Amino acid sequence: MSEASASTPLLEQYEGVKARYPGHLVLFRVGDFYETFGDDAKLLARELDVVLTARAADARGERTPMAGVPHHAVESYLGRLVRKGYKVAICDQVEDARFAKGLVRREVTRVVTPGTVVEDRILGGPDHSFLASVVLRRSGVGEYAAVDVTTGEWFEGPADGPGTDGAVSALAPFHPREIVVAGAGERGDPAEELRRDFPTARLEAAPPPVALGELPAGLRPDGPEGPTPGEAGRRLAGYLRLTQPRLLPHLAVTDRGTGGRRLVLDPKTLRHLEIVRPMNPDDPDGRTLLRCWDETRTAAGRRTLAFWLANPLCDVAAIGARQDAVAALVEAGARLDAVRARLGTIGDLDRIAARAAGRRVQPPELGTLRAGLAAARALAGELATEAGAGALAGVVPRLLPPEELEALLTLALPDAAPPADDAGDRFRRGYAPEVDRWRDDERAALEALSALERREQAAAGVKGLKIGYNQVFGYYFEVSRPNLSRVPPHFRRRQTVSGGERFTSDELDEIERRIRVAREGARSAEGDAWEEFLSRLDRHVGAVHRVARAVGEADALVTFAHLARSRGYVRPIVDDGSALVGRDVRHPVLDRQLGERFVPNDVELDAAEGRLLVLTGPNMSGKSTYMRSIGLLVVLAQAGSFVPAKFARVGLVTRLFTRMGFTDEIGRGKSSFMVEMTEVAEILRAADARSLVLLDEVGRGTSTFDGLAIAWATLRHLHDVPRSRSVLATHYHQLTELVGGLRGARNAHFAVQERPDGIVFLHRLVPGATDRSYGVHVARLAGLPAPLLDEATRLLAQLESEGVSLPAPSRSGARRGPKYTQAVLWDAGGASADPLRARLLSAAVEGLSDAELRALLKELRRLAAGTPEPAA
Ligand code: ADP
Ligand code: MG
Repeated sequence: MSEASASTPLLEQYEGVKARYPGHLVLFRVGDFYETFGDDAKLLARELDVVLTARAADARGERTPMAGVPHHAVESYLGRLVRKGYKVAICDQVEDARFAKGLVRREVTRVVTPGTVVEDRILGGPDHSFLASVVLRRSGVGEYAAVDVTTGEWFEGPADGPGTDGAVSALAPFHPREIVVAGAGERGDPAEELRRDFPTARLEAAPPPVALGELPAGLRPDGPEGPTPGEAGRRLAGYLRLTQPRLLPHLAVTDRGTGGRRLVLDPKTLRHLEIVRPMNPDDPDGRTLLRCWDETRTAAGRRTLAFWLANPLCDVAAIGARQDAVAALVEAGARLDAVRARLGTIGDLDRIAARAAGRRVQPPELGTLRAGLAAARALAGELATEAGAGALAGVVPRLLPPEELEALLTLALPDAAPPADDAGDRFRRGYAPEVDRWRDDERAALEALSALERREQAAAGVKGLKIGYNQVFGYYFEVSRPNLSRVPPHFRRRQTVSGGERFTSDELDEIERRIRVAREGARSAEGDAWEEFLSRLDRHVGAVHRVARAVGEADALVTFAHLARSRGYVRPIVDDGSALVGRDVRHPVLDRQLGERFVPNDVELDAAEGRLLVLTGPNMSGKSTYMRSIGLLVVLAQAGSFVPAKFARVGLVTRLFTRMGFTDEIGRGKSSFMVEMTEVAEILRAADARSLVLLDEVGRGTSTFDGLAIAWATLRHLHDVPRSRSVLATHYHQLTELVGGLRGARNAHFAVQERPDGIVFLHRLVPGATDRSYGVHVARLAGLPAPLLDEATRLLAQLESEGVSLPAPSRSGARRGPKYTQAVLWDAGGASADPLRARLLSAAVEGLSDAELRALLKELRRLAAGTPEPAA
């Protein structure tokens, strides 16, 4: 602390470190605190809500702002800083302050970044923690790489498509905490473009790639498992070399059994379907698919499940293998509960191994590691009956840890591990002879100490003569006041206390010295032995990761089976066909919340006939829920899970697109119509016959007419060109009339029961179009005031009686009764009679630029307004 008051040299030392770590927040150890100075102190005070002081003074005698956190709590503060996206350099005292001459030597001992931490308290939970790297190519497909240093998993490959969008799509399932970026964006600063989709990730310019020859074996092209690392991977390795070099050797290209292919879920689809994260990340009750499915018993199992749900498979055989495993586990019946109980005893082996590799492991954690490995071995035995079933055939053998590793742990660790790092006795007796020797010395000296106490008591005849210890004086004899006359002459007085006096003697001093020497010897021998032990463990880190991965996969499969058994889910048929059929399909999350009240529905799409379904029905009738149910059915089926339905057949889907609500970017300076058009254009560009497209409320982002025109054109295009299986929900009832003219399209709507006192949503899908929007009824449900509703009802009746409605523009020609449409701008007898309609139907849609599309819209609007000539 004296350093901090005479602090010019201290500040100079701090500034020196700051200069060597630009862009880092430097936490600078001074005594019991980690301090920051100057602007960083203000930042720390603000971000962590700690006190800003000004104790330090610079060379001119000016006081410098200073803020700090106590060293024992630094990890939780680090967690908060890192989650806010800061990169922190920890600067420690690297010599004992008591023996330092002048300023204590300090060095940066670690750099903590959001994507490279391994401590549970900083990570804040068991979920995957990905660090990603992306190489963008202005024209052409870029590359990505992603690593979870806490599990040793490494993924890389080409982006999902050209430009930043393709890169974003490839990175989305990883939800990286930190991204290193190289290459050029399409529209400008690549970091800016990435920030839109990864608002919480820390972004940083990528360091140069490391040479191929410098990559660790698990990532090298000649390694047993992986393909040649690309530029993104080699830059990622470069970043790790700067930040967590110790972890690099343990990384290996991971095979998650996807054969390099997955069902592509772009970032918006992941969000709309709420697969892993809720649409609104601040909603604590946000119910995601993961949350609803997460009955896993291990951290690795939870990570595996999250990964499987965000990266469904795209290979019939691989999906079938998972399903076979799940089916066999369902068959296991009550034995499944025992297996789940066993899983529940396995700790987070992945992270313990990563912390051991990073030298941040606590001795008790290695006890957890040993127990977890033993439990994995036991689990392999308990799954013997199912070991041949599908995916389990590849999992069960990997549950067996290397015997050499188990032997090492058994040899080295005591049966009960000590509670904390410095508590001593980390090793079983016999493992480290040097440590044992010092411990023996210590024990002998302590015995000599009690012998001395007994001897002096007897000699003086004073029972109240006791040996005590304190930090300042070390060991002393204490004699109570009434007995002071019997103190022997060889006692030397040290201190007077309230009840008596304290003394020492030559013999006591000597024993004290022996104890101190033995303890210091033991501590240093134990430190050396610990280092030596951890480097022996280094060779096995990869093996622990492999066992942990097998545990995770076993847990995920067991969880699928447990859900199937306890919730009555069925095995879907997944094939290469073009059908998407489901009977009594339920929304997996809502179904759990509503229970009996949930109304299941059927789905039947086929690439050949009925590939496109147009949904109408009033607000709140269940359109969005139905579309999400279909999307989630496909996700679950291709992830290998059983599904909430009576029956399901899924012809493989390679890309799933959803657009729901189109509200994402409102407020980012774009009109919602523009956003919708851009998003729909993206989908139409990328979709093909193996895609599933779910579009909710097409054309909502604009006035009725523009929206209708776009919705119509979109529908036709989807039907004719990519021929994707698609479901569109719309409140443009006119669209339903177009459907009659498209061979592959059908209408359906959600049934509503009309009652004198209002309407009841039945949430049941029925074929054909609806002709009522029930807007006024919905408004009543929403609680609009009664006079307003009366007014609206009167207006509606008037509009309907005046025939402001569609006189059958459909090709089928059949009208099914009077139609009410919202704010109708459409009133014509047919395409030939109506220049607007003629122009709309003849308009090309593909290949139009944004400008051309806008021009087309203007033209259509002029036609609608009845002013065919362009305004001068
Ligand atoms: P829409 O998209 O037609 O406006 P939603 O799908 O958003 O309607 O559904 C509105 C509400 O209706 C949901 O929040 C849910 O409570 C209920 N709901 C929807 N579908 C069902 C269903 N199949 N069974 C029971 N309730 C449903
Ligand atoms: Mg809706």
